[in-house]
Amino acid sequence: MLRILRQVGDVVHKALRYALDLTQPGTPVLEICEKVEAFIRANDAKPAFPVNISINEVAAHYTAKRGDDLTIPKTGLVKIDIGAHRDGYIVDAAVTVALGPVFVNLAKAARAALEAAVNAAKPGVKAWQIGDAVERVIKNYGFKPVYNLTGHKIERYLLHAGYVIPNYLDKSASQALSPGDIYAIEPFSTNGEGYVVDGKEITIFRLARMRHKVFQPLIDVVSSEAGPLPFTPRWFPQIDDNTIAMALKAGVLHGYEVLVERSRGFVAQYEDTVYIGEDSAVPLARTLDLL
Ligand code: MN
Ligand code: MN
Repeated sequence: MLRILRQVGDVVHKALRYALDLTQPGTPVLEICEKVEAFIRANDAKPAFPVNISINEVAAHYTAKRGDDLTIPKTGLVKIDIGAHRDGYIVDAAVTVALGPVFVNLAKAARAALEAAVNAAKPGVKAWQIGDAVERVIKNYGFKPVYNLTGHKIERYLLHAGYVIPNYLDKSASQALSPGDIYAIEPFSTNGEGYVVDGKEITIFRLARMRHKVFQPLIDVVSSEAGPLPFTPRWFPQIDDNTIAMALKAGVLHGYEVLVERSRGFVAQYEDTVYIGEDSAVPLARTLDLL
């Protein structure tokens, strides 16, 4: 299992590097999402979710819509979050591009927090201890962590397997890490209040039901490509937006709201997926080697 995970991690590492090259002011977000997803498929893997490009106060869960005209801004914070899998073995990782001098420290805070978290992650360590490390680093930079976003345990074909890694000292995250566990660790830093709320849009969905008398054709099409993992309607030109909206209303689809910082603070994120070894955590996408 570790061998496949390392291979998928390598694909995600290269996909992030490619996305970083593409992320220039004026470039359409749609172009970056499509090119990076094609890169993942060309490397014998599948996207574990649509490429997320979340800008400034948008913290997470934005992927380009069909025909999206959004472009990378001249200044601000661009978070690129990429997931890939092979046979359900998932690696999830993210970097932040700080465009313009103002927000460089916010990105550095999230990066340093990820570094501290990966170093702290060992068998026997409780999840809240990692959150404590994340919170201390981000506060030392003069910012706040995003309290209501967390890292998460990953299992085969399951991106969020229940257990979380908080971004602050949250004693309710009391599980100890064990050898063989896989966790995505993802510190978010902000110059806002530190809470995300649901935005107005949904750009990412997943199947919530596998049987339905009306929507079975949609379920079959989505299932054959994405299985139970998140998808974007971009991947399915044969399904129109109206059908997606009706399937959402019928409970056949689950929608992930775009998440926005409550006080419209800007948000940075770094993420890697780690495999818990016998005495340390193995960072699979090697996010910290990127920038
Ligand atoms: Mn992610
Ligand atoms: Mn994640």
